[in-house]
Amino acid sequence: MPAAIRIIPCLSDNYAVLIHDPATDATAVVDAPDPAPIIAALEKEGWNLTQILVTHHHADHVQGVPALKAKYGATVVGPKAEADEVPYLDVPVVDGDPVAVGTLVGRVLETAGHTKGHVVYLFEDEHLLFSGDTLFTLGCGRPFECDPAVLWGSLQRLRALPGDLSVYSGHEYTLANARFALSVDPDNAALKAQMAAATARRAEGRPTIPSLMADEVAANPFLRADDPGIAAHLGLSGAPSAEVFAELRARKNDFKG
Ligand code: ZN
Ligand code: FE
Repeated sequence: MPAAIRIIPCLSDNYAVLIHDPATDATAVVDAPDPAPIIAALEKEGWNLTQILVTHHHADHVQGVPALKAKYGATVVGPKAEADEVPYLDVPVVDGDPVAVGTLVGRVLETAGHTKGHVVYLFEDEHLLFSGDTLFTLGCGRPFECDPAVLWGSLQRLRALPGDLSVYSGHEYTLANARFALSVDPDNAALKAQMAAATARRAEGRPTIPSLMADEVAANPFLRADDPGIAAHLGLSGAPSAEVFAELRARKNDFKG
């Protein structure tokens, strides 16, 4: 049976996501920004929380862990490299570790950059990727704890995954990301189409996650730092892709639009 997924808006622009295995009733939440809406979603479905899958240590991803742990006794899974910063961490994971939610089999990919130990959770048979603050719809996280080149390496790894993955990221930043993306890649038809689709979804009050990995590869400038057109647009034709990526990231930080 395929996984059941529920997207839970939390705080001002965070998402938590429930993954439920109908075969066993196991249910995991990816990240815990705020316990109240997560508990409400679980109670609405009649699901019991068995696991909390943490992508990284930032407060807006872990501050709900203590309350959820207290209420459900759920197993907390998270990056070993951030073990000191993830509350109640039961299962520290590293690259390649399996993560099972009942009969749903996933694995951990380390994607350092936004934080030094950030992990994402890939459920390949289910075509699901939970990308936290590494890869956003049409954007990526800020490299707070690593050199931009490290994040670029992590994003290159993600873009090599199957194009049919549904990508669930940790924030609703899509329209701002799209405006920036168009500023550096103005002639990209796939990007224009995705901006239009995202604008329509937001107008209806709906999330812009998940996105399709193939669409990200076609339109997300942070997966396209080795595209000659983007390098040319930045005045960096022939420069190493890591340099183009760092320039993209710097411009995004300063972008007002
Ligand atoms: Zn973060
Ligand atoms: Fe975040």
